[in-house]
Amino acid sequence: MKGKGSFEEGHAAVIFGAPLFRRHSYGKNHPLGIPRVALTLDLIRSFGAIEDGEYIESRQATVEELGRFHKRDYIEAVRECEKTRRISASYREKYNFGNFENPWFEGFFTTPATAAGASIQGAEQVIGGRVAFNPAGGMHHAMPGRARGFCFFNDGVLGVMRLRSEGMKVLYIDLDAHLPDGVVHAFRDDPGTVVASIHMDTSYAYPFEGGRIRDRGAHDNLVNLPLPKGINDSEYRAAFKQVFPRLFRRFRPDAVVLQSGTDIIFSDPLGKFEVSTQLFLEAVRTVTGLCPENENGIPRLLVIGGGGYHPLALARCWAGMWGLISGRNLPVKLPEKGSEILAGVEWDDDEEEDYYGNFFISRLDEPREGEVREDVLERIDALIRTHPLLGN
Ligand code: ZN
Repeated sequence: MKGKGSFEEGHAAVIFGAPLFRRHSYGKNHPLGIPRVALTLDLIRSFGAIEDGEYIESRQATVEELGRFHKRDYIEAVRECEKTRRISASYREKYNFGNFENPWFEGFFTTPATAAGASIQGAEQVIGGRVAFNPAGGMHHAMPGRARGFCFFNDGVLGVMRLRSEGMKVLYIDLDAHLPDGVVHAFRDDPGTVVASIHMDTSYAYPFEGGRIRDRGAHDNLVNLPLPKGINDSEYRAAFKQVFPRLFRRFRPDAVVLQSGTDIIFSDPLGKFEVSTQLFLEAVRTVTGLCPENENGIPRLLVIGGGGYHPLALARCWAGMWGLISGRNLPVKLPEKGSEILAGVEWDDDEEEDYYGNFFISRLDEPREGEVREDVLERIDALIRTHPLLGN
């Protein structure tokens, strides 16, 4: 890996996209009926922050690649439904798609297969010495033979598997507000992969099971910190700073996969946390700083997308994140073109309009500081006291 992709030689980071994501939507009334990948790329481009060589067009994952995690009959069923443009009652029952949660859409197979391909390509970029970001990825609920929680193919699992195939120990960190149950399912018996997640307690949030502090997997390789509703910046920061430096120190991963769902942001219509954009970026900075590095100083880090149902918050978080991982210092104030792009998004779900007075001006939200609640401290303490990977 020596010398490849160093900052001096050019592009240390790459970002993935594909024209099909511009048209992609789960339908008007679905939480994923919003622009995400194209909006993120457009916003980043408004800063002039994607140079030639930094953008890579995603390729479709092959059936063989998808088959490393998914069942063959499931893959074939998704493919068939793209062609026939219909989903039978028996498929709906068996595979959990064709319903409101996981609806049929144009490019039913091609789109998730392309998102999955980019996470495999991204892993290969990391192996080659670059940081990679796949904003279309992060589909962490998908199971081997069933769609779940808006997710069809589990690109994060496939990305981790690609890194594992090089013999790397992988730490998968899930920022998303929801438990990454599909990823947990994939790696609960693999001592070379740790799946760490801070999420909304499943007593009140999807997927409504698992993700408890005592769920540690066959090799103590699951780290779960479920938190109550309404977590603010100071509480999230306390959890993050207590868990991750210890985990890196003890597990010593060779590479990190970071799922960067933005549904922890206070404005998210599905999330119940109250975290600001600034804290989201602080968490990304913390992870980047702890990451193992190549000899050229570039972190071995694959970033994938994830949930996030407020398109403007999502695009700003991911633009800021791209700035951090690509070694840029993006200004807080959006370029005029960027403001126009965000203002042009059809979105009228904001309940806190007053707060959004400067939504289109600043990339950042005000920090949401406050006391760290006893309940949160107790949960952090319970995790650290009982988890072998978090001892001193
Ligand atoms: Zn989520």
